[in-house]
Amino acid sequence: EGGGNNRRFERLGVKPTRVPLGVKRKSLRIVVTGGAGFVGSHLVDRLIERGDSVIVVDNFFTGRKENLAHHLGNPRFEMIRHDVVEPILLEVDQIYHLACPASPVHYKFNPVKTIISFYVTNVVGTLNMLGLAKRVGARFLLTSTSEVYGDPLQHPQAETYWGNVNPIGNNISLTLIFRFIIVFLLFTILGPGVRSCYDEGKRTAETLTMDYHRGLGIEVRIARIFNTYGPRMCIDDGRVVSNFVAQALRKEPLTVYGDGKQTRSFQYVSDLVEGLMRLMEGEHVGPFNLGNPGEFTMLELAEVVQETIDRNAKIEFRPNTEDDPHKRKPDISKAKELLGWEPTVSLRKGLPLMVADFRQRIFGEQKDGSG
Ligand code: NAD
Ligand code: UDP
Ligand code: UDP
Repeated sequence: EGGGNNRRFERLGVKPTRVPLGVKRKSLRIVVTGGAGFVGSHLVDRLIERGDSVIVVDNFFTGRKENLAHHLGNPRFEMIRHDVVEPILLEVDQIYHLACPASPVHYKFNPVKTIISFYVTNVVGTLNMLGLAKRVGARFLLTSTSEVYGDPLQHPQAETYWGNVNPIGNNISLTLIFRFIIVFLLFTILGPGVRSCYDEGKRTAETLTMDYHRGLGIEVRIARIFNTYGPRMCIDDGRVVSNFVAQALRKEPLTVYGDGKQTRSFQYVSDLVEGLMRLMEGEHVGPFNLGNPGEFTMLELAEVVQETIDRNAKIEFRPNTEDDPHKRKPDISKAKELLGWEPTVSLRKGLPLMVADFRQRIFGEQKDGSG
């Protein structure tokens, strides 16, 4: 792995950047696409703290400048307003590619626009970042998603499970055309609510990443992220944790979709960031599941939210979408073994940390330090 890239480095007379964690080394130049978003901004914090130089590339579609305001003025930090769908020239050592229109609200309310924006961002955006990695010999990390497993028949999901289609085993041009047609047909037949645009966009991004790795020797890393929560999460993006927390704080009923017996596993954002950094610095391509194996039904999650914020918060049942996955829980044995990584923050420990941030953003500055 990385042999082709090393040859490229030799040609260019540059040393490859392969530095073990914890070893003193020269500061790296790192680009984080989607760095103004929820996960990206926490990653940027850690990279800056570690002494590296960070360039954030973000079009602020769902991200916010406030998430990074504390780095403005730091000479090792730069923020560029840019859509990854357009090519960009940068000189960097590592690329964390997070940019993605990732909100379920968008795909439920405007599926046509969403499907296109997902496809274009995931395909063209990823292609551009891979092209950049190729040109400068940088290492590239893709943040894929547990959604590539679809509504999984295997539980918990290991990386070897293909979901419905093997995302990294196909021929590139066939994949792109074929997948686009399938997603388009699905959408036309089934109409709004089809969430496959998200799954398929990420599958395609994984395919492209593996094609650049196998075909061109680019150093790549793939993370499959499971549901993550924490401070700076979008308040109104429709995800279950942000919905419940915001609802409980606003004294509104918690909206449970369906019977509430579907499960998810919720990972605190600092655990994810640690996993992403270990993956980038490590020797293994992946894909790696990064998630917390603690599994909760939505009713159990509602209970934890009630315990944390408001014991009297009411629960209101709402119809669920048909294609909602019934169960999701990562098998993280691979990351444990090869990256020495596992989550350390439980839901009961992590939720209050997020509540403090939500309280402040919803109600404005509060001097009592509540939460
Ligand atoms: P987010 O919406 O907070 O962050 C995404 C960022 O990408 C935003 O800042 C947005 O403005 C930016 N962006 C979107 N389209 C862009 C474009 N075309 N050009 C430049 N920037 C663009 O979402 P997040 O939760 O921080 O997710 C980060 C990554 O992790 C995404 O790739 C997402 O698919 C993946 N992921 C997240 C979760 C989760 O639970 N948070 C789960 C699975 C995968
Ligand atoms: N690209 C980019 N920045 C770079 C190098 C490439 O945005 O520094 C884009 C480039 O515009 C192209 C994509 O990445 O659309 C893929 O580049 P690659 O060189 O792999 O393919 P080619 O340009 O040869 O088709
Ligand atoms: N969900 C819910 N109430 C909400 C929002 C979501 O019960 O207000 C459910 C949703 O139906 C799904 C689960 O919570 O079963 C997780 O949804 P989310 O969109 O957060 O994540 P994903 O489905 O992408 O895992």
